[in-house]
Amino acid sequence: MTTINTQEILSRLIELTSQRDSNTLEISLAQTLFDLVAPGAVVIYRSINLDNTDFSSTLLNGDISRDQITDDLKHALSTCMQSGEPHSFRNKAEKYESVLLYPIKGGKNQTIAVMAILEPDDGVDFHSITEKLLKIYQNFVALIHENERDTLTGLLNRKTFEIKINKILSSLHSVDRESENENQSFHYLAIFDIDHFKKVNDQFGHLIGDEVLLLFSQLMTNNFRSQDYLFRFGGEEFVGLFECPNDEDIFLVLDRFREKVSNYTFPQVGQVTISAGYTKLTDNDVSANLIDRADVALYYAKNHGRNLVIGHEKLIESGELEEKKNIGEIEFF
Ligand code: GH3
Ligand code: MG
Ligand code: MG
Repeated sequence: MTTINTQEILSRLIELTSQRDSNTLEISLAQTLFDLVAPGAVVIYRSINLDNTDFSSTLLNGDISRDQITDDLKHALSTCMQSGEPHSFRNKAEKYESVLLYPIKGGKNQTIAVMAILEPDDGVDFHSITEKLLKIYQNFVALIHENERDTLTGLLNRKTFEIKINKILSSLHSVDRESENENQSFHYLAIFDIDHFKKVNDQFGHLIGDEVLLLFSQLMTNNFRSQDYLFRFGGEEFVGLFECPNDEDIFLVLDRFREKVSNYTFPQVGQVTISAGYTKLTDNDVSANLIDRADVALYYAKNHGRNLVIGHEKLIESGELEEKKNIGEIEFF
């Protein structure tokens, strides 16, 4: 029978709550469950489409292979994601008997993934320990979530930007050039700035201005993909980090968004437009020069009629940048 002593639980909780990153926190939770209640395996499933019907899996601990996600399992995972409640599942296709599916909830209590645990043979305290650990985990995820985000819009904040951009840049530094193939994609950074936003505040007041910022951030979230990183940098300036197969596509993606904003009717205020400047990440970059390049492009858009998306590299190709070079010294932030 499983017996767990208080010292062991406390040590595990100390380890679990020392994590500051959602991914390592998840791995630590899986390890804790594994050590405390010794299930057959712990697997995390994440939805890879919007209607939660297809999943990717990460085996966090245990000794089974999880290559195959059967239709039965997909169905059970969908049910768990949609209901937000634990669910049990018997998978005849695999060698184990009973799998317990627990929803993992993010900062806003929405289900972001499912933790699948193979029920141990002597699972006496198994359910209650697992559920309590998940609650501690979720409280902690909510704290991390709040810390990473801007209060008004719920987008990622500037502090998180530095962490994410440095992670992406270090991954670019470590890419094995020889292993690159034609399926590779590139990273781009875009800065979005609302046009004539001062006028919105002056004409309608700060509260209505805040509402525009909130609605604008929702347009961003709904328009871009869930794997794109969206930040509020401050005031009415927003930054996006995107992965895209080529330079033509990123322009189309950003310009489609610009158009969407210009066609949206904001309550009371009506039409609002945005300008955007973007640049491609290279393995020589540090975050400051990326921001500088995107800023130069944004400044160009502001000076050429606004409601425009401008790529920094296109400015170089067309010879425009020479003319604008010292604009990069102007402070935007
Ligand atoms: P441009 O087209 O050149 O960008 O013109 P702009 O009026 O948007 O100019 P600028 O970017 O310099 O001004 C931004 C204004 O945004 C200044 C400030 O009053 C307003 N602002 C900044 N933060 C907030 C906020 O949190 N809420 C509201 N309501 N307004 C803000
Ligand atoms: Mg601005
Ligand atoms: Mg502005």
